[in-house]
Amino acid sequence: MSKTSDETTRTAPDVTFKPRGTGLAMRFRCGRCGNPSDASGRGLRHVAGLRTYVCKACKQEIDARRSR
Ligand SMILES: [Zn+2]
Repeated sequence: MSKTSDETTRTAPDVTFKPRGTGLAMRFRCGRCGNPSDASGRGLRHVAGLRTYVCKACKQEIDARRSR
């Protein structure tokens, strides 16, 4: 009942995962400035009464305004 063969016969996958293009899925359009931006650092904020994702810069601006 040994399953060690599974480990020893493990080889590299035939298909290497490669992100296509420039990672389109990781980009979004900022709801505040309207610019396509990197999804990293984005945040969900209220913009004009709507909850929308904003880019990092806009998020910081909104946060700075709120803390005042
Ligand atoms: Zn923005």
